Amino acid sequence: MYFSFRIEPMPPLKLIKSIILFSVYLMTLTCVASSFSWAQKTLSNAEPEIFNLRVGAHADKTRLVLDMDRKIDITPFYLLDPYRLVLDMPKVRFKINSTGLVRPVGDVSGYRFGLFDTNTSRVVVDLSKPMVIKKLFQLSGVSNSSTRLVIDLKSVSKSVFQTKSAASIQKRQKKRTPNTFSEANLTSNYSSKKKVDKKIIIIDPGHGGVDPGAIGRAGTYEKNLVLSTAQVFKSVIEKDRGYKVVLTRTRDQFLPLRKRISRSKLLNADLFISIHADSISNSAVRGATIYTLSETASDKEAAQLAERENKVDIISGMDLSEETKEVTNILIDLAQRETMNQSAKFAGLLVPELRKVIKTHRRPHKFAGFAVLKAPDVPSILLEMGYLSNLNDERLLKTDGFKKRLAASIKRGLDKYFDPN
Ligand SMILES: [Zn+2]
Repeated sequence: MYFSFRIEPMPPLKLIKSIILFSVYLMTLTCVASSFSWAQKTLSNAEPEIFNLRVGAHADKTRLVLDMDRKIDITPFYLLDPYRLVLDMPKVRFKINSTGLVRPVGDVSGYRFGLFDTNTSRVVVDLSKPMVIKKLFQLSGVSNSSTRLVIDLKSVSKSVFQTKSAASIQKRQKKRTPNTFSEANLTSNYSSKKKVDKKIIIIDPGHGGVDPGAIGRAGTYEKNLVLSTAQVFKSVIEKDRGYKVVLTRTRDQFLPLRKRISRSKLLNADLFISIHADSISNSAVRGATIYTLSETASDKEAAQLAERENKVDIISGMDLSEETKEVTNILIDLAQRETMNQSAKFAGLLVPELRKVIKTHRRPHKFAGFAVLKAPDVPSILLEMGYLSNLNDERLLKTDGFKKRLAASIKRGLDKYFDPN
């Protein structure tokens, strides 16, 4: 048995067809190859990851170890009152399976991490005494595709810490890339206010990024809870075309108190609502509370809460020397009195609406010196939706049903405030 082949000359049309087919085949190959190299490129361009952070106490030093997937450019600096070491770096993804320290390790009493601004991620390390970096080095190839950052801290005197702090802050300022948040953009986006005549409501989800806020008994982060709740508020309230809702932050990012306030001023907002779910020492306390601004707090609990909330800039490792004293100074001037009356009026209208649908604190309207409520001409309230220190509240606050009921009651409160008839 044999096979015979007869090679016939190809007709010209068939030849052209084959050439076209072959070039399509070649082009496909090139595309596959280039998309493969594109995929490789995006992988290496993805944000670096930090997947482990440990603190160790040794006789002569306290050691911090960070494991990451590649070398990262770290800018350390020190802050006083209280003593802190801050590590700034380009935006990274934190995959650290921890919420911080359960108890102090050596002279490190705690740490936090998260996004500080659009371009910067941050780790804040709380020090119980003045300590500075003795050694900082990065080791590559510790295990599969990982780099280890090791920071050894040594004790110093307060005056040495002060000097190092000033120098480190100066060095950081030179290196720092400006935040891409543009207040001008924000204003131009909503400057059509007068034309459409919508009521502009600022919803301010508290905390964010490097500042987690309260952490619930079952592990809920206040910063995440208030952000998802704010998004529900926006979608419920904006169903009424008479309202425009602007969130002060739309992602897990730190925002200084000053910027939260300035956003409502810039947008010429009609109302500012800061939302929180804090934690207090008495774990039996439940229910929602509305706070409005006052120089003197209505009770001790309110005073403590305001004091803690006013410290969020410190928690986030902000260099407060860059800030104006105006934000934290709680003295209220005459110009603010009318705004305060309006805030109290809104709170008064909101309480009965809240009571219809959710559990409220036995005293649902309180007063305290919250810095975030200090916009001089925008009526402002702070809503504690409940307490993450109470397990039942924590469970409830996370449900969609609760968020929607709360949003609907706020909407009714707004309607009454803007149109009393
Ligand atoms: Zn809070």
